[in-house]
Amino acid sequence: MTIKLHPSIDNGFNPTKENFAGGVLNCKCESNTVRVKLAGQTAHNHACGCSKCWKPEGAIFSQIAVISRDNVEVVANADKLVVVDENAVIKRHACKECGVHMYGRIEDTNHPFYGLDFVHTELSTDEGWSAPEFAAFVSSIIETGTDPKDMTAIRSRLKELGLNPYDCLSPALMDAIAAHVYAQNHKDA
Ligand SMILES: [Zn+2]
Ligand SMILES: [Zn+2]
Repeated sequence: MTIKLHPSIDNGFNPTKENFAGGVLNCKCESNTVRVKLAGQTAHNHACGCSKCWKPEGAIFSQIAVISRDNVEVVANADKLVVVDENAVIKRHACKECGVHMYGRIEDTNHPFYGLDFVHTELSTDEGWSAPEFAAFVSSIIETGTDPKDMTAIRSRLKELGLNPYDCLSPALMDAIAAHVYAQNHKDA
């Protein structure tokens, strides 16, 4: 059985290009395409198994990276963007016609990831984006219908691709969150 995780991951992927200057994300609409310019390289690119991130048809994981919000600019058809869930911490701005999420933004200034936008670099034809590094929220794919019996094979496949599977975020990101909490709690000390 061939396990299909995500079309940009299944056949391996290109390494991160040094000094990559960024590019443009395009939604899937053939006319009045929403375009978002990313003025720089992304970071922490990973496969995500949560039920909130946008996934292409048939994929069980999404692929998502972060970039400074200052480097994100909607350059075409901004009027087609709507926030998927106003109550979510990450406001995912999606094209209301094709449904693709163009960027996710955190407006809570106390959030550990405030200042970073979440983007899907597979929406760009530019090459050189930061390569996926790990898989996050792997167990969560069960919530969207993956059979728990398939999880061992899926985790093995992720490891084979060099993407360590985690059931939350990677240790580096979990450490960053915890350090932020510590700093928040000791602000006035
Ligand atoms: Zn669209
Ligand atoms: Zn996710």
